[in-house]
Amino acid sequence: MALFQIEKSKNKDKSENMEIESDLCGVCEKCVPACPHGLIKRVGYSMKVDKDCVNCGECYDSCPLGAIFLE
Ligand code: SF4
Ligand code: SF4
Repeated sequence: MALFQIEKSKNKDKSENMEIESDLCGVCEKCVPACPHGLIKRVGYSMKVDKDCVNCGECYDSCPLGAIFLE
């Protein structure tokens, strides 16, 4: 039962987060101000999305390279 709950929780987290495809991302940071919750940040030469992302889609149109995917 405990194992099942862990698996379920993992899947839920994944489905509620958008993803930035690192192969497409040019690290231009245009998506950073697009998130009303301030959940996107640059770490080195890649972009990270905080686990608190609510998959609202507000950042989607900010990316000129189509690197943002909503789950
Ligand atoms: S989907 Fe919404 S909450 Fe998640 S990073 Fe984009 S703007 Fe922020
Ligand atoms: S706007 Fe697109 S290309 Fe620019 S940093 Fe964000 S995800 Fe990467």
